[in-house]
Amino acid sequence: MNDSFLDLLVPALDRLKDQFVGLPEARLQPPAMAEAAAALDEATRRMGDNYPYFHPLYAGQMLKPPHPAARAAYAMAMALNPNNHALDGGRASSRMEVEAVREIAGMFGWTEFLGHLTSGGTFANLEALWVAGQMAPGKKIVASEQAHYTHNRISAVLKLDYASVATDERGRMDLGALEQLLASGGVGTVVVTLGTTALGAVDPLDEIVALRQKYGFRLHVDAAYGGYFRLVSNLGAEAARAFAQISEADSIVVDPHKHGLQPYGCGCVLFRDPAMGRWYKHDSPYTYFTSQEMHLGEISLECSRAGASAVALWTTQRLLPLKRGGAFGRGLEQGRAAAGQLYRKIASDRRFVAGPAPELDIVVWAVQAHTLDESSRRAQEIFDRAAEGGLHLALAHLSGKFFAGAGWQGASEDSKVTCLRSVLMKPEHLAWVEEIGRRIQQAAGNLE
Ligand SMILES: *Cc1c(COP(=O)(O)O)cnc(C)c1O
Repeated sequence: MNDSFLDLLVPALDRLKDQFVGLPEARLQPPAMAEAAAALDEATRRMGDNYPYFHPLYAGQMLKPPHPAARAAYAMAMALNPNNHALDGGRASSRMEVEAVREIAGMFGWTEFLGHLTSGGTFANLEALWVAGQMAPGKKIVASEQAHYTHNRISAVLKLDYASVATDERGRMDLGALEQLLASGGVGTVVVTLGTTALGAVDPLDEIVALRQKYGFRLHVDAAYGGYFRLVSNLGAEAARAFAQISEADSIVVDPHKHGLQPYGCGCVLFRDPAMGRWYKHDSPYTYFTSQEMHLGEISLECSRAGASAVALWTTQRLLPLKRGGAFGRGLEQGRAAAGQLYRKIASDRRFVAGPAPELDIVVWAVQAHTLDESSRRAQEIFDRAAEGGLHLALAHLSGKFFAGAGWQGASEDSKVTCLRSVLMKPEHLAWVEEIGRRIQQAAGNLE
């Protein structure tokens, strides 16, 4: 566990306190220390019931520890607990949000835009689809079968029609299926996922941009998980072409709390056209008094938001600028290299059926068996055995079509299999991938 943030935090809090000297003495309610310590101790004991997300042997779900500087900045800001809804509640942190978001937009090639942080990717996507619905009333939202499940639900919340588009055997949006849907009319917005949550598949954005010229639709890019891969230089050719077109989107979502080294509670939505701000117009009678400057609450659907999130993000980006060839991008490249190595190891093991070659840093594989049910059972068994041995993987239920060559008897086109999944999103995974592979083989034992 990385505790170095404490060494950063202590002097930061002193520095913060220095800036508020000269106030008359106020008797702030002291906590009852012994009782607080006891309650905290109880909470801490309960936290032991978690997987060790910070360790490279946690190689399961999409979880990445926040950077120590982000943790220190968040905790420092919490001493004031600013609210980024309005400048009254968070002066410095609102400006830091504006600066941090400008840098994220810059990563996608945008200098003029509208954007802000959100509590997460789901809310960021909700805002993007809400604006999309205003721009194309009565028209459909479409996304691939592998798009995040919340797009369907968000569309229902917004009372927008939704249709899903088939994917190819690699989990990317199928262009033929998309074009058929477009030709049938009524499509207002296409959601393109750059980095699907299950497989890390990258929809062919470049070719979808070309289709937009013919059919005309709004383009929303959901890059909640994958967005930061814009900075890396070891993508495959197709993924690189898709990422290179991201600036063509009308809106983009990226989650600093996924790959951006931030504590949870940090998503981001961006609109290419700053005029989209008009949809947010509202008339709050009590929040915006002290400044002519824009308040973030005037361009977001959420009201209260943690200013500490913006402070943590700003600090992290100050330390690790969002530049191609920089240290931050190198960290992502290491995870991606680790995924490639693990994939090759699994693909050459006769006990497994590898899924699609990883486009980002996610590896999925099924277990060889006569039937799909047997394969699912074995995946569960390997998952359990690996965990007993200290390696934490994830399970996924995916269409059998992603496992070409499995040859399961009696399996229909769309039957689903339980398979193993590993997200190698920590840079340290590269140094550990041999060990991870060894433990997977050990957990598979003498399956044949
Ligand atoms: C994680 C994810 C989301 C949802 O974001 P949250 O921050 O979990 O709300 C949406 N889309 C994609 C592609 C994701 O990976």
